Amino acid sequence: MESAVCPGSRLPDVGVSIFATMSRLANEYGALNLSQGFPDFDCDPDLVATIHRHMLAGHNQYAPMPGLPALRGALCAKIARLYGADYDPAAEITITSGATEALFDVITAFVHPGDEVIVFEPAYDAYVLVIRLNGGIPRFVTLAAPDYAIDWNAVRSALTPRTRMLIVNSPHNPTGAVLSARDLDELANVLDGGPVIVLADEVYEHIVFDGGRHESVARHPALRERSCVVSSFGKTYHTTGWKVGYVTAPALLSAEIQRIHQFVTFATNTPAQMAFAEFTERRDRYDDLAAFYQAKRDRFLRLIEGSRFVPVHCRGTYFQILEYSAISGAADAEFAMTLLQDHGVASIPTSAFLYNSDAPRVLRFCFAKKDETLERAAERLRRV
Ligand code: PMP
Ligand code: GLN
Repeated sequence: MESAVCPGSRLPDVGVSIFATMSRLANEYGALNLSQGFPDFDCDPDLVATIHRHMLAGHNQYAPMPGLPALRGALCAKIARLYGADYDPAAEITITSGATEALFDVITAFVHPGDEVIVFEPAYDAYVLVIRLNGGIPRFVTLAAPDYAIDWNAVRSALTPRTRMLIVNSPHNPTGAVLSARDLDELANVLDGGPVIVLADEVYEHIVFDGGRHESVARHPALRERSCVVSSFGKTYHTTGWKVGYVTAPALLSAEIQRIHQFVTFATNTPAQMAFAEFTERRDRYDDLAAFYQAKRDRFLRLIEGSRFVPVHCRGTYFQILEYSAISGAADAEFAMTLLQDHGVASIPTSAFLYNSDAPRVLRFCFAKKDETLERAAERLRRV
C-alpha cells in the first residue's frame, strides 16, 4: 500500500513466504509441521560446545569480509577432495549469512535490467523475486511430474542473446530430483561458447540417496569456469537457524559477488565460522548424512503404506512429494489447508514454486523429523 512515506512496493505481488505462512498455521492449529524444511531434532551438542568455546575465547568481533581464512581453506580442501575442483581460498570463495544471502549476492552481482535468467520450475522461492528486484526477466522451463527431469531441448529454445544466467538446483527442492553426469554434459554443451553464468544451488549436496553421487557443477571443468556454486551449513549440520552458507566461483566472479556481499552483511557470524571450520575438517560429520536421511525417507514411506497418498521417487533432499489425486480433486493450496485444519499435518503446496504452469495434485512433506513425529504424521495421513 502507498502512503506519503511508503512508496509503491518494488514487489507488489509478493506476499509472506509459503514457509513462514505454513509454519505459522501449523503452530496456530497445533498441527505436526512437515511444511518448512528444518529438522525438529537438535544439532550435535559438540558443535554447540565448539561455538561456545570460541565465544568464550573472545572471538566475538567482525570476521574478515570474505570469510575466515581457516573456514575458506577447509572448504576448498573439502571441495577438492569431493569434486576434484581446485578453488583458491584467497580469491574464489565467499562465506555468507546462509545460502539465501549467497543467492541474493550472485543474482544481484550479475543480472542487469533486461537480462534474462533461465529458471527451472518448480523453483525455490528465493530466485525469482531477486531476479525481478534487479530488473531481470525469468524465463521458465518446466520440470514435469512425475520424474521432474530437465528437457534440454526446452532449455535450448529458452536461450536468447539476452540470457545472462541459468539457475540449477540439485538435489532439487521441492521434488527430490537430482542431476546426472549426463545432465551436466548437456548443460555444458548448451552453454558452450556463450556468456551465460550458471548459478548452482547445491545446498542438499550431502543428501543424495540410493547410492547415487552428487554431481556438482564444480566437478565439470567447463561448467566450473562459468559457475557460482552455493551451499549451506544449515542442511549439513542440522543448524538452519545459524544461517551460514557460502559460494564458490572463479576469481573474477567472486570479486563481483564480494562487492555485493560487503554491503549486504559485510561479514558472517565469527564464532559460527570458527566452529564450522573445525567441523569441515572432520569428514565423518557429513559422510553419513545421506544414509541418515535415506533411513528417514524409507521409514516415512513405510509408515504411509496403506494410505491413499502416492509417493513420487525422492532421490535427494529431505522432502518427499506425495500425490493425492485418489483423495481429492482440490487444488494443492486448498488441499494443504484441509490437511492442516482437519487432519493436523502441515505440508507445502508446490504451486508456491510454480510461475507458469499448473500445479499437479501433489504436496511436499519434510521428513527431517524425529521418528516419533514421522510416526504420528503418517498415522494421520493413513486416515485421510
Ligand atoms: N536453497 C534451497 C534449495 C533451499 O531449500 C534453502 C533452504 N532451505 C536455501 C537455498 C537457503 O538456505 P539457507 O537457510 O542457508 O539460507
Ligand atoms: N528452504 C526451506 C524449505 O524449503 C525453508 C527456508 C525458509 O523458510 N526460507 O522449506
